[in-house]
Amino acid sequence: GATLGVMGGGQLGRMFVHAAQRMGYFTAVLDPDEGSPAGRVSHHHVRSDYVDEIGLAELSGYSDAITTEFENVPAAALARLADHRPVAPAASAVAIAQDRAQEKAHFTRCGVPCAPYAVITGEDALAGIGDELFPGILKTARLGYDGKGQARVATRADLRPAWESLRRADCVLEKMLPLAFECSVVVARGADGVMVHLPVQRNLHRNGILAVTEVHEQCVPPVPGLRAIEAAKAIAEGLDYVGVLCIEFFGLADGSLVVNEMAPRPHNSGHWSIEGADVSQFELQVRTLARLPLVQPRQHSPAVMLNLLGDLWFREGATGAQTPDWASVLCLPGTHLHLYGKAEARPGRKMGHLTLTGPTPPSVRETALDAAQRLGIAPF
Ligand code: ATP
Ligand code: MG
Ligand code: MG
Repeated sequence: GATLGVMGGGQLGRMFVHAAQRMGYFTAVLDPDEGSPAGRVSHHHVRSDYVDEIGLAELSGYSDAITTEFENVPAAALARLADHRPVAPAASAVAIAQDRAQEKAHFTRCGVPCAPYAVITGEDALAGIGDELFPGILKTARLGYDGKGQARVATRADLRPAWESLRRADCVLEKMLPLAFECSVVVARGADGVMVHLPVQRNLHRNGILAVTEVHEQCVPPVPGLRAIEAAKAIAEGLDYVGVLCIEFFGLADGSLVVNEMAPRPHNSGHWSIEGADVSQFELQVRTLARLPLVQPRQHSPAVMLNLLGDLWFREGATGAQTPDWASVLCLPGTHLHLYGKAEARPGRKMGHLTLTGPTPPSVRETALDAAQRLGIAPF
């Protein structure tokens, strides 16, 4: 049988491995961590860092085609692998997604507006920043995730200290926008240019980390919802993208939509599709990588996804980490528990997620609120 390889062994890789194995593939994971969520369920686990020549050769030795689940895999490593095996997404697309300045330039080229911003590549750039960008958020151009590598900048006086706190890294300063809602769209594009997408997903972030995703027909207003899908398709097309791509958007009170960022892989906000749609984002990743046909996924159930962060393991009054009471939510109808097999719970760490499916948006929402309360997750 054919073997599909993946760079990165986190939860996204694990769910990719599950989807690939269900469809009869063998899998190979490259991740330095012995106990990585994907490595421990894969047929092959290459334990090396992402640039080690020997590790890359071993991965491509096992694999008939290779993808990535970790957006900070050096694009050069993907380019290296592509000398030997088909790689999707391409290193060139991943390189753009890895750099906020290049990413925003790409959005602009595709005609999709982003928040007003400026690129900061050195001390001299600080003085030239326009007043209209305050209050803003300073974000490192590279390597940020879950709100890490960001600093709020209320006024111009805060800019230099914020930049120092980010160790003078290359940054973008974005104007802070008053968000009416956040949403995302997962698109998949095949090597033949065929493109399909999941429905618009409404996202709630807390402390820069995704907390809740809701997906049903009216989860975002219709016009910005349609625009998000059109924008996501234009962005994928403009990259000549092959694979699964997720685009995050901000909806503003005046009905306008701006793009935030993209991830060159399946996304936390698309996890609901495992149970809520007839083709999940991970199956889409398998299909694009294996050059299988793409068909438009159909959502068959309204869905809510609750992230299970490590905080839930630390209950007030208890000493040390305690496993949450899963039975208390599994007794509710339409709950689907995913735990990623991470050895140690830490506050802010994504340990798993709970997807709820139900017959109608109000009913699934009601059950999700109940489940959240039982687990100690704040209401939404
Ligand atoms: P991810 O884990 O999604 O990759 P990240 O670290 O790349 O996150 P962003 O997506 O840039 O971070 O920002 C995290 C969250 O912070 C956003 O989802 C949004 O809630 C808030 N945020 C970011 N930029 C802005 C902005 N310009 N105006 C208002 N809120 C913002
Ligand atoms: Mg990001
Ligand atoms: Mg984000």
